[in-house]
Amino acid sequence: MTVAKVHFPRGIAFPCKSTQLVARSRASVFGTVAAAHAALEDGIACNLAGGTHHAFAAEVTGFCVFNDIAVAARALQREGLIGRAVIVDLDVHQGDGTAAIFAGDSSVFTFSMHGAKNFPFRKQKSSLDVELPDGCGDGEYLARLEEHLPRVLEEADAQLLFFQAGVDPLEGDRLGRLKLSLDGLRRRDRLELRSARALKLPAVVTLGGGYARPVSLSVEAHLGTFREARGVLEREDEL
Ligand SMILES: [Zn+2]
Repeated sequence: MTVAKVHFPRGIAFPCKSTQLVARSRASVFGTVAAAHAALEDGIACNLAGGTHHAFAAEVTGFCVFNDIAVAARALQREGLIGRAVIVDLDVHQGDGTAAIFAGDSSVFTFSMHGAKNFPFRKQKSSLDVELPDGCGDGEYLARLEEHLPRVLEEADAQLLFFQAGVDPLEGDRLGRLKLSLDGLRRRDRLELRSARALKLPAVVTLGGGYARPVSLSVEAHLGTFREARGVLEREDEL
C-alpha cells in the first residue's frame, strides 16, 4: 500500500502517521459505503466507525483522515442508487469538512448542530448550521433539534440520510462543552431515527466524537445510539 498521496499536515492530531492508519481509515470509509447500501435494503444500517467529518477533500484535520460520509454519498449517487442525500451531523463539533465538500451542491443537504464556541474555530457554511451555547442541556438541545429537523428533512427531499451520531455533547466530555445526559442523547437518536422512518427515509448511522472520562461513558453513549436504531426497527416490526 502506498501513502504517497495522503498529506498529513499538523491538523491530523494523531501521533502516528503510518500505513496502518491509512488502512484503518480506508476500512472505516468502506464501512460507511457498505452501510449505505445496507440501509437502502434494510431501512437503517450502522457503521461501528466513521463519521470523520473534519476531513476535507484534500485536507486531513481533527482526527479525521477521509470523509467517509462524503465518499459514501458520492458513491451511491454515481451508482445511480440515490439522487439526493441529507447529512445530519449532531457531533458537538461542526462538520466543517462535510460542509465544504458539498458547498454549492444542491443534491446534498448538510445540517450541522454544534457548539458555537468549539472546534473548528473557523466554521464552514453548511446548508443549515445551528449553534449551541456552552452548557446547553437536554431540554434546550432537544427543543432546537425538534424545531429544525422537520424542515431539514423536508427541504432536503433526499433518498438517503446520513446521521453522524457523535456522542461528545455528553456532559463531562473533555472536548464537548455541552451538558447532555445519556438519556438526552438517546432521545436525540430516537427523534432522529423515528423522523427518518416516518418519511420512509433510509438511514445510515456512523460514529462521531466521544471523549468522556472514563471512556466507558462514551462507549455507553455510542451503545445507546445502536440500541435506539435497533429499537426503532423492532417497534415497527411489532406494528
Ligand atoms: Zn466531535
